[in-house]
Amino acid sequence: MFSSKEKASIDHVMCLLREWDHGSKAVRSRMLSDFIAKNTGKTFPELELEFAQVASLFLARLTAWMRLTYMFGTCLNLQLKALGVFLSASSNHQYLMEFLEMGAVLTLLEILGQENLKDEDKIEALHLLQIIANEGQKYKELICESYGVKAVAECLAKSKAEGTQETATTLLKSLAHGNSKYQNQVYKGLIALMTCTSPRAQQLVLQTLCIVQPIVKIAHHSIVEPLLSLLRSIHLEVQYEATELITVLMRSEVKPALLRGLVDLLKPSKEEFSKHKILEDPARAKIMDSLPVFLQQAAAARTIRILTQSSEEISKDLLSLNVIPHLLYAVGNQEHADTQKQASLALEHFVRMYPVVEEDVRRAMGTTLFETFMHNAECLHLNMNKIQADILRSNNTTSVLRSVTMSRLRSAMQRGKSVVLENAEAIKSSNTKKSKATIKEEEPSVSESSSFHFFNDPSEISAYRSQLLLWYDHNKRDLPWRTVAMTEPDVNIRTYAVWVSEIMLQQTQVATVIDYYNRWMKRWPTVEKLAAATLEEVNQMWAGLGYYSRGRRLHEGAKKVVSELDGQMPRTTEGLLKLLPGVGRYTAGAIGSIALGQVTGAVDGNVIRVLCRVRAIGAESTGPSVTEALWKIADTLVDVERPGDFNQAMMELGAKVCTPKSPLCRQCPVQTNCHAFRQVSIKQEKDSKILKRKLTSKLNTPVPDIENCLNAGSCNLCLSEDWDSQLGVQNYPRKPVKKSSRVEKTLTCIVQRQRGEETEYLLIQRPSKGLLAGMWELPSMILDADLSENKHRGLLCTMMQRFLETSLDKDSFQFVGEVVHIFSHIHQTYIVFSVCVSDCSEKEQEQKTCWLTKSDLQGAAVSTGLKKIMKLYESSSKVNSRDVKRKLTPGKEKQSNKIKKFKDGAINGGPKQLSLSQFFSTSRTEGKTDTQNT
Ligand code: SF4
Ligand code: ZN
Repeated sequence: MFSSKEKASIDHVMCLLREWDHGSKAVRSRMLSDFIAKNTGKTFPELELEFAQVASLFLARLTAWMRLTYMFGTCLNLQLKALGVFLSASSNHQYLMEFLEMGAVLTLLEILGQENLKDEDKIEALHLLQIIANEGQKYKELICESYGVKAVAECLAKSKAEGTQETATTLLKSLAHGNSKYQNQVYKGLIALMTCTSPRAQQLVLQTLCIVQPIVKIAHHSIVEPLLSLLRSIHLEVQYEATELITVLMRSEVKPALLRGLVDLLKPSKEEFSKHKILEDPARAKIMDSLPVFLQQAAAARTIRILTQSSEEISKDLLSLNVIPHLLYAVGNQEHADTQKQASLALEHFVRMYPVVEEDVRRAMGTTLFETFMHNAECLHLNMNKIQADILRSNNTTSVLRSVTMSRLRSAMQRGKSVVLENAEAIKSSNTKKSKATIKEEEPSVSESSSFHFFNDPSEISAYRSQLLLWYDHNKRDLPWRTVAMTEPDVNIRTYAVWVSEIMLQQTQVATVIDYYNRWMKRWPTVEKLAAATLEEVNQMWAGLGYYSRGRRLHEGAKKVVSELDGQMPRTTEGLLKLLPGVGRYTAGAIGSIALGQVTGAVDGNVIRVLCRVRAIGAESTGPSVTEALWKIADTLVDVERPGDFNQAMMELGAKVCTPKSPLCRQCPVQTNCHAFRQVSIKQEKDSKILKRKLTSKLNTPVPDIENCLNAGSCNLCLSEDWDSQLGVQNYPRKPVKKSSRVEKTLTCIVQRQRGEETEYLLIQRPSKGLLAGMWELPSMILDADLSENKHRGLLCTMMQRFLETSLDKDSFQFVGEVVHIFSHIHQTYIVFSVCVSDCSEKEQEQKTCWLTKSDLQGAAVSTGLKKIMKLYESSSKVNSRDVKRKLTPGKEKQSNKIKKFKDGAINGGPKQLSLSQFFSTSRTEGKTDTQNT
C-alpha cells in the first residue's frame, strides 16, 4: 500500500504524463522548460524521487518524441537538453541503457547530418553522444559501429559554427582514446577531414591529430599530401598547427616523405602555380593566384627551420635532400618577402651549424651578400638587388653544392670530427677571417717549384680584381650582348643571347660580329624561334661570318634545348658544357659567368695572353700543363661577386691594352701584378749604367725572388727558350710552331645560262657535314696534280657533261683566272673557268642544285670564296668585253694585276665581310683572308 504522500506523488506524475500525452507542442515546450529548470544536475535517486520511481516513463516519452520529430526540429533543443538531464544523472546506467535500447544513438547521429537543423541542436546532440562515450569503451564502440565517426566528422567539416566544431572535435578525440578497436577509423576520418574548407575546422583537426597520432602510433602515408597542402593556408593558426603535426610525425615512418615534400615546396614547379585550388576558402579566392604557393613556400621554410633547430639528425636528412640550393632559391623569391625571410633564417641555421655549408653558401651568394646575410639574415631581402636574387633563383649551384656539401660532410664525419660547432661565435669569427681570403679551398696546393706562376696571396688577388674591375667600369665598350646580359630579366633569354654572342665571337672580331648579332637577335630573339628556323636560313644569316659550322651548331643546340630540355637553357656551366653542341670549356665558362653569375674563369685567346704575361708563363701556351695552369689561375682570380664582368674585363684588357703586338703596359691597370712587366723593368734597370754601378758596389746582392721562378730550368711553365730582350713582355706567351696549311688547288666552273633577260648561275649544295657544310658552291673538283690549262678544260667539260647530261664543247670553257683563299688550315687556289650553256633540262641530281640570278646570289648562303670568284668573273667579263685576250698583252697584264691583287689581298688580309652586292658593285679590288673552317 502506498502512503498518502506517495499516492499524491504518483497522482502528480500520472497527471503530468497525461498532460504530456494530450499536450500540444506549446504545452510540451512549457513542460520541458519546467523540467529542465527544476531537475538539471539531479542524480538518479533524486530524479526517481521526483517522479515517484517511474521517471523512466517520462524518459521513454521524451526519447520517442525526439525520434518522431527531430527532422522538423520541433522543440528539439529542449528535448535534447531534457534528455541530457537524464543521461547526466550519474551513478546509474539505467536511464542510459533505456535510452540506447530505443535506438537513440542513431537518432542523435542523424541529427548531426540534418542540414536544416540549427547548430545549437547539433551541439546538444553531440553533448549527448559525448555523455555516452564517456561511459567507456563499449559505449564508444557502439557509437563507432553506428558510423558515428563519419557522422561526427562530416558535421565538423560542414559546420561553420565554432561551438559545433569544437564539440565534434572533442568527441572525436574521445572516440580515439581508449578505443583500440576503432582508433584507426577515427584517425583516418581525421586525415580525410584535413581537406575541409573551414580554417577553424582544419585547425581543430590538426590539433586532434597531434593527440591521436601518438595513440595510433603508426602514421598513415595518406596524411602527407593534405598536411603539406595545409601549409598553403592563409590562416596562420592553420599553418602553425600543420607545422606542429609535422613535428609530431618526425618520429613516424612518413618522416622521409614529409621532409622531401617540404624541400620540394621551397622550389615550386610551374604547374604548382595553377594547381592550388584544393581548398576552396572564399577568403583565399580574392588573393592573387600565386600567393598560396608563396605562402606554402614560406611555411615550408619556417617548418624546416623549426625542424632543424629541434634535431641534428633531421638537419642532416635535409642536407642530403639538397635543402641548401632550395633554400637559396626561396631566398631569391622577391615576389614574397616572407618567403625570403623564412628561407633566410632557415639557411642561417644550417650555415651556423655546418662550416662546409657556410663556405658553399658564401660562394653561391658572393662575399658582400653573404656578409649582409650573416649580419642580419632576417633582413637580407631588404638588401638584395634584382640580379643577386635572380642568381639565387636560377639555382646555379644545385648539383655542385649538394655533392660538395654532402661529400665533405661525410668525410668530416668519417674523420670523427663533429661538424657541429657548438659555439656560433667561434664560427662567426672564423668566417670573418676566412672571408678575407677567397681562394678556393678545394684547389690542390700549388707545388713550390711553380708557385711563382700562380696567385697565392689573397691581398694580391683582391687588388688585382678591384684594379681590373675599376678599369673595366670606365673603359668597357657598349656592346649589344653586354646590354642584354645586364638588362634582360628572363634568365633563359639572357643565357641564349650570351650563347649566340659567344659563338659568333669565336674566331671573329667584335666589330664584325655586332651587325650579325643584331640581325640574328632581331630575327630569332629566343631559343624557340631559332629552333623553328631552317638550316638554310641559318646559313644565309651566317654567310660571310666564316667558320660556318658555328651557326649550324647553334641551330642544332637550339633544337636540342627545345626538344630535350623543354625550352630551358642549361642553368650551370657544367650543363652548358655537357648539353650544348659547339660549347667548349671557355664558352661554357663565359656564358655561365656572364649570363648566370657562375663563379668560374673563362680562358680565351686574350686571357691566355694576359695571364701568360702576368704570371710569366713562357712554356708553349697550348700545352696541357700550361692550359691547366691558366684555368687554375683564372678560377682563382675570378671575382666572386662579379664573375661575368671580371671575365669580360680580362678579355677586354687583352683586346685593348695587353695586345699581341703593341702592349700598352704604361696604361695597364694590373701592371703592378705583372711578372712580365717587372722582369722587363728589372732587366732594363740592370742594363742601365746606374744599375751597373750599384752592382759593382753590391756584387753579391741577390736578385729578388719575386722576379724569378725558384725552379727555373726544370719548371714546366717557365720560358722554354732564351729571353729575347727585343720582345720585352711579348716573350709571353710562347706560341706553338704553326703547322703549315695544306695547299690545295680546286678547279671550279661558273656555269651560266640565259633565261630571258636574266643570266642564271648553277650552284650545288655542299654536303651537310665537313668544310662549309650545307653552303652553296660552284661546280668544282680538287686537283691532284699540276695540269695544263687544256687538261683543265677537258676535265671540266667531262664533269659538266656528266652533271648536266648534255653535250658540251671543250673549247667553250673560258679561263677566268685564279683566286687564292685562305681557310684556317687550307691554302686554297681556285682555278676558275666559265661556260655558257644553252638550254639544259633540270634533271634529278644526286646533289642538290639550283640556278640563281645575280640578285638571288646576294641573299644565298654562299661562302666568301665564292663571292671572290664571282667578283673576279665580273671584272674579267668587263675586260673580255673589250676583246682583250688572255695571252700576255697589255690587257692581260691589267687582268693579271687584278688576279694578283686578289692573291695579295687574300694573303695580307683586307677589310672583312664584304657583302656580295659590295663585291659586284665596287670597282675597288680588295681581297679577304677568310678563316672559314669546319
Ligand atoms: Fe700586359 Fe703589360 Fe699589362 Fe703586363 S703590364 S698585363 S704585359 S699590358
Ligand atoms: Zn717556372
